[in-house]
Amino acid sequence: MREQSVSKEGPESTGASFETQTDVCSSGWGFWMSPTVNAFGPSRFPLRSGPVPETLRPMTNATDLILGRRVMTMIEDLAQHTDEPGRLTRLYLSKAHRKAAEATLRLMQEAGLDAHIDALGSVVGRIDGSHPDAPALLIGSHIDSVVDAGRYDGNLGVVLGIVVVEALRQQGLAPACPIEIVAFGDEENVRFPTNLSTSQALAGRFNPAWLDGRDQDGIALRDALIAFGGDPEGAAGLARDPARYRGYLEVHIEQGPLLEAKDLPVGIVSAINGITRARCSVTGEAGHAGTVPMSMRRDALAAVAEMIGIVERAGSTRTDTVATVGVAQVQPGAINVIPARVDFTLDARSPDDAVREAMVQDIVTECQAAAQRRGVDFTIEPFMESPATPMDKELIARLEGAVRSLGTEPFHLSSGAGHDAVAMAILCPSAMLFVRCKGGISHNPAESITVEDADAAARVLIEAVNRIAV
Ligand SMILES: [Zn+2]
Repeated sequence: MREQSVSKEGPESTGASFETQTDVCSSGWGFWMSPTVNAFGPSRFPLRSGPVPETLRPMTNATDLILGRRVMTMIEDLAQHTDEPGRLTRLYLSKAHRKAAEATLRLMQEAGLDAHIDALGSVVGRIDGSHPDAPALLIGSHIDSVVDAGRYDGNLGVVLGIVVVEALRQQGLAPACPIEIVAFGDEENVRFPTNLSTSQALAGRFNPAWLDGRDQDGIALRDALIAFGGDPEGAAGLARDPARYRGYLEVHIEQGPLLEAKDLPVGIVSAINGITRARCSVTGEAGHAGTVPMSMRRDALAAVAEMIGIVERAGSTRTDTVATVGVAQVQPGAINVIPARVDFTLDARSPDDAVREAMVQDIVTECQAAAQRRGVDFTIEPFMESPATPMDKELIARLEGAVRSLGTEPFHLSSGAGHDAVAMAILCPSAMLFVRCKGGISHNPAESITVEDADAAARVLIEAVNRIAV
């Protein structure tokens, strides 16, 4: 996960709507073109108990967890590659990122994908369909990490894409449409001042100024990319033609507690939240904590305490919104001095831009009123406005069908964090599937999912691919 700020016009602006492309590689038998499988009719990957064709049983039996175990093996493989012994840290273009990219490349090649590491360090693998000119289905996520990360954030979505293709190959099946798996490298945006640079490159939105950005050691992205084995001049050439892609699917751990609370293995993302961020300041007057009567104070921190309550209420009283004061710096910050000034931050999110804007406006109005009552000055300076990214309705419908085939009613939730899907939605219709993670904990070595949930996610993804590429 990451925080995002992407200017975009939305998937509808690409002209690459799912509906208009479904005829390109449709066939009476759907996605799987093998004659042996055609004989089994449309229910080729039944996910519930019941009659299962013998040849498919090894990859569809929910009790043997073959797919889930395969996912965990690959996750274990990738988790070995870290820049810091004893904990997982894999920043964009680091040595560990290179090693993880090479490991991902191997996994893709072993799964039968025609794979390479691209100019910006993303690993891209492709398998042709029986209709090679049909628009491809993209599946991906990222393999970079935060400092002291968990092993599933990003890696899970990459690995699941490979597992799906591997399962196809083991069954001797060929998809009707090409499938492209992508392991992006710069999703967390921890090292350089970038913004989803590797996925934005595919969407044709790579900003060349990013190449001049430097990490905390003063190393420019351009030089790090050359040391990695990439090509700074090659970024523009990575832009994909929207007409060549029918959609993008990303599976990701939820990074929140909702699925666990609902006792569900997976959930379908309705939208990725838009974000407003602002710097706020309250200025009162310093004074002696022992001598100034309470009725004569202009206490900046007491005013901010009230404002934090306003922010908390604003986030709580609407559906699917969150609002947070994450930083508050008090001046002068002494035990015996009435606070003169407090600088604090506001972070407000919603899957609906109009709701978010109304929430922020209410916060501003109420904070101004509180400041006036208390005789302090309040200023707010927004510095980030990132619109929400609705997921594609057609792809969501396919995911719903896939989840139902697992015997579970689909559950929808919004994503509070940004993902590569924000950038990919600029290129083509995009959708996300969340997988339950223990305690909702992420960006933490305690990040954890079960092999059962990994298996369920793999089976949902296979079913979804089956439904999308018909
Ligand atoms: Zn992530």
